[in-house]
Amino acid sequence: MAIVAFIGLGNMGAPMAANLIKAGHQVSVFDLVPESVSALASKGAKAAASAEQACSGAEFVISMLPAGKHVESLYLDQGLLDAVPETAILIDTSTIDTDTARKLSDAAAQKQRMMIDAPVSGGVAGASAGTLSFMCGAADQQAFEQAKPLLLDMGKNVFLAGGPGAGQVAKACNNMLLSILMIGTSEALNLGTKNGLDPAVLSDIMLASSGKNWALEVYNPYPGLMENAPASKGYEPGFMSELMLKDLGLAMAAAGGSKAVTPLGGLAYALYNRHVAQGMGKKDFSSIYQAIESLEPDRE
Ligand code: NAD
Repeated sequence: MAIVAFIGLGNMGAPMAANLIKAGHQVSVFDLVPESVSALASKGAKAAASAEQACSGAEFVISMLPAGKHVESLYLDQGLLDAVPETAILIDTSTIDTDTARKLSDAAAQKQRMMIDAPVSGGVAGASAGTLSFMCGAADQQAFEQAKPLLLDMGKNVFLAGGPGAGQVAKACNNMLLSILMIGTSEALNLGTKNGLDPAVLSDIMLASSGKNWALEVYNPYPGLMENAPASKGYEPGFMSELMLKDLGLAMAAAGGSKAVTPLGGLAYALYNRHVAQGMGKKDFSSIYQAIESLEPDRE
């Protein structure tokens, strides 16, 4: 049993904290939204009135916040880094930019604290089922080993990608690839159907051929082909297009910072940017199929 502070009880954080309680840990929780704190308290968490109070006596501090600016504000501007016990291991599971993740790890090290970046893959469903994948970046292998059993109480895969920020880089790479696979699958299905093919038959052909990929296998973007896919439920998420756009923005920032060239990632970013601007941000990211389907050919 570990003493854990959990900060940020949104779509992802709430079920993750609930899984830690189920696993028998003593969990103190805080969120800016009091109702989110009460909901977790009714599941056995200790309700805290502030992030600082939640961290009192904690062995592990886990944060799950929207973006880099929120994480930086919590640990640096609000001074949480000074308030956490020196022996506590800090684990930020939010998806944030690599530079902020490295900055936080450095700031923590200067105060003799250990901070791990540990973004997740698996979405709200994975957070609820306790099947998330964690991609970690840590300055210290020992801190990672100490955190791993706790992460396994919320997930089924825990990887050490490298040093500080490496978890965020891995997450950006994965989601950039996912967006490209989703767009490519949508293009192929649209091309086939516009040429008279049955999308179900075309899907079966590609699944048995070299075009097979995750989007086609478990998340077919063509409506009605796969019972449980968001495409068959009016593109209700799932994983929202605006979150994919956020992750593509982080991938583009990582590319710019490292001078890696990502032509398809750049195109994916532009397509999701347009899609979100057209009001599809809250729809599942597989709704990019509709954007592809409605594109008109360029006229001479
Ligand atoms: P969310 O907006 O539902 O939850 C964020 C929570 O943080 C909110 O409850 C908010 O009140 C709280 N918060 C913000 N600032 C705070 C502060 N200073 N102190 C305490 N609480 C604060 O977001 P989410 O969907 O849970 O996503 C969280 C992170 O996980 C994001 O970085 C997102 O990119 C990533 N992620 C989300 C998904 C997904 O499918 N939702 C999947 C993988 C990764």
